[in-house]
Amino acid sequence: MDTDGKTIVWFRRDLRIDDNPALAAAARDGSVLPVFIWCPQEEGQFYPGRVSRWWLKQSLIHLQQSLESLGAKLILIKARSTLKALLECISAVGATKIAYNHLYDPVSLVRDHTIKQKLGELGISVQSYNGDLLYEPWEIYDNEGHAFTTFDAYWTRCLSMQKEPDSHLPPWRLVPVEGIVDNCSIDDLGLENEMEKASNALLGRGWSPGWSNADKALSAFVEENLIDYSKERATVAGNTTSLFSPYLHFGEMSVRRVFQCVRMKQLLWAKEGNCVGQESVSLFLRAIGFREYSRYICFNYPFTHERSLLSNLKYFPWKADQAHFKAWRQGRTGYPLVDAGMRELWATGWMHNRIRVIVSGFFVKFLLLPWQWGMKYFWDTLLDSDLETDILGWQYISGSLPDGHELERLDSPQVQGFKFDPEGEYVRQWLPELARMPSEWIHHPWDAPPSVLRSAGVELGLNYPVPIVDIDLARERLTEALLIMREREAVARAEKSDGTDEVGDNSDCIDNLVIPKVVLKEKAPCSAASSHDQQVPSMQNFKNGFSSRKRLLPLEEEQHQRNMQISNSEGETSKIDDDLCSTAVSSSAKKQATCSMTSFSVPQSCSVSSDLKQQSHVEIDAETSSGKQVG
Ligand SMILES: Cc1cc2nc3c(=O)[nH]c(=O)nc-3n(C[C@H](O)[C@H](O)[C@H](O)COP(=O)(O)OP(=O)(O)OC[C@H]3O[C@@H](n4cnc5c(N)ncnc54)[C@H](O)[C@@H]3O)c2cc1C
Repeated sequence: MDTDGKTIVWFRRDLRIDDNPALAAAARDGSVLPVFIWCPQEEGQFYPGRVSRWWLKQSLIHLQQSLESLGAKLILIKARSTLKALLECISAVGATKIAYNHLYDPVSLVRDHTIKQKLGELGISVQSYNGDLLYEPWEIYDNEGHAFTTFDAYWTRCLSMQKEPDSHLPPWRLVPVEGIVDNCSIDDLGLENEMEKASNALLGRGWSPGWSNADKALSAFVEENLIDYSKERATVAGNTTSLFSPYLHFGEMSVRRVFQCVRMKQLLWAKEGNCVGQESVSLFLRAIGFREYSRYICFNYPFTHERSLLSNLKYFPWKADQAHFKAWRQGRTGYPLVDAGMRELWATGWMHNRIRVIVSGFFVKFLLLPWQWGMKYFWDTLLDSDLETDILGWQYISGSLPDGHELERLDSPQVQGFKFDPEGEYVRQWLPELARMPSEWIHHPWDAPPSVLRSAGVELGLNYPVPIVDIDLARERLTEALLIMREREAVARAEKSDGTDEVGDNSDCIDNLVIPKVVLKEKAPCSAASSHDQQVPSMQNFKNGFSSRKRLLPLEEEQHQRNMQISNSEGETSKIDDDLCSTAVSSSAKKQATCSMTSFSVPQSCSVSSDLKQQSHVEIDAETSSGKQVG
């Protein structure tokens, strides 16, 4: 074994010591320079929000201490270019190698690919590893070698893999490299500004970031709460799920360790014939499977942060109503369960999965607001904000996945309230103005008799809003929107068959919505490839390859709404065609090259305040003013 190597370990979202393949390999090879580079410019519109940056800061402090106790210092760098920062580190210490763990979100896929290529051209050895998943996206494909497009089929294949997910022991010591590298303090990174500190301090009361805290949380959950997961997870009040998501997002917790610990319990409970325990395990592993699937979808379909996987929302008549968007964000829609969720998000950066489904479904189907706005707002405000799972969640609720909710499905928050918060405990916790409402009326105060409202101190329209959209009206509006959408699709198809217009990617297929086939078996050749290299899938667009249950109805054309502010990436015809026949990396790379043409516009009020945000909006505004229709 070569033990003279000098390796830079580039930390990103793998902020842990245990089961960190890049760190373990570097430690085996010789001396190590651990580095974290903060480059806001490269995050673009997906610059992390306040609470997410708070978590990152705490986690870095934790990692710094751990690495130092192993013998190596974590170098923190604030840079305008990650590549430049890495090159400076290389020349400062004479490093021969760079090691890092893979990421799969569209922004990192492009950046990592470019950096790897450039470093390779300069003769620097780059080794990348799987530090985030049970299985790499390119290890899972169906019998024809195509990427899966439904979760159950994907997860069944994962569970039947012959090879167990590997894990890596932590290094017991690190040999530091010699040489001096410019290092900034954690405060100099600028993850938290002075004005945010008071609100951020509140987060510390409920959460303990850092890999060793993640370790403790894992042991406690597996020993004490896992058994009740199947029963508890349906309740939205209280801590009924594992609360692992921020740890998993920042890589403080290894998903393989989680899998191994939970599988051990599964074996034990199977031996004991404990059915409740076994059901809990399989539901919990399924949740872990959704996280895996989110990366799988993003890797294979890197356009999904902008448009529907099924391409079915291309002609949906979104209503870009700023007042509705604001009411939703502030938890003032008049629907208690939705408002409670949005107030919880506002106050804590957290929501139960069920509440995320309810508030996002309300956003799209009651308010007809563009789903990308909601996705971006979640990104800005969630403590666990994670691009891949955020994308999967919004695709799931907006009829964009073959196995998600149908677009026409409209769930009543009132009915869901009685189902998931039967006593109204959750609503009372987050909406103190409704605290004295009897349980019978708490999820639909607008129906309560005046005497009940009076004795509960509720004055609808004064201290709690009347519903922003009445349920019956919402149903009508959604039905109408679906008719318009189908009518536009029909016209677009007719125009295409006349040869008068080039539209759509699926317009010659009335009953089927086509998902591009991604072929994983035939791996694209990659220069300087090693067994650890990030792979690149190749796509084939099979015209009738995918049968969707969502049937399109031909109807009449209507004018495109002028007032939509969302960038109509659903309608970017030439771009879509490009995407369909390109690889994950190349299509993402093209997106970056033409960033302002493909990024969607999010209203200013949606975004966290930062110079960077301003920049990305300037870019979007410039696009609007240059005549491209953002709508
Ligand atoms: C619209 C929408 C947006 C979402 N945005 C995010 C996000 O930005 N970041 C995020 O981590 N999760 C997101 N989710 C998924 C899910 O809500 C959270 O992962 C979950 O609530 C976290 O709580 P937990 O750790 O206690 O989950 P548990 O139920 O204990 O599950 C364990 C782990 O499995 C994974 N998981 C569970 N459910 C899902 C799911 N539906 N999809 C993907 N992974 C899942 C998470 O990593 C989670 O930590 C979103 C869901 C929706 C519907």
